[in-house]
Amino acid sequence: MNKLNHIGIAVNDLKKATDVYKTFLKDVEIEYEEVASQKVKVAILPLGESSLEFLEPTQDDSPIAKFLQKRGQGIHHMCIEVDDIEEALKSLEENGYRLIDKKPREGAMGMKVAFIHPKSTDGVLLELSQKVE
Ligand code: ZN
Repeated sequence: MNKLNHIGIAVNDLKKATDVYKTFLKDVEIEYEEVASQKVKVAILPLGESSLEFLEPTQDDSPIAKFLQKRGQGIHHMCIEVDDIEEALKSLEENGYRLIDKKPREGAMGMKVAFIHPKSTDGVLLELSQKVE
């Protein structure tokens, strides 16, 4: 099923960034994870079928560190979950959209993920994801 999987938010400090949500979402259980390939620490705050994904860089050359230097903290990307990520990437490429990842790679929670360039999506960095069975 296609759905909004998560919104990615670039932050300087995961703990500080999630405090405001913990204040009013009383029973929320946040999961923490490190994605070494992206040089980020991730906090995932579930919201029904979707979630907020907070991203804190672990190194200065992390893509998130570069984003923070350039744009500051805030919404970084949105992620749409699809049933067949290879098929989705193929359709996009055939229609001339610019892919950052031509092939899916491993993202948080063991999902397959791939990014589409914001030049092709009116300024929104778009992540596609697919659950791995
Ligand atoms: Zn994401």
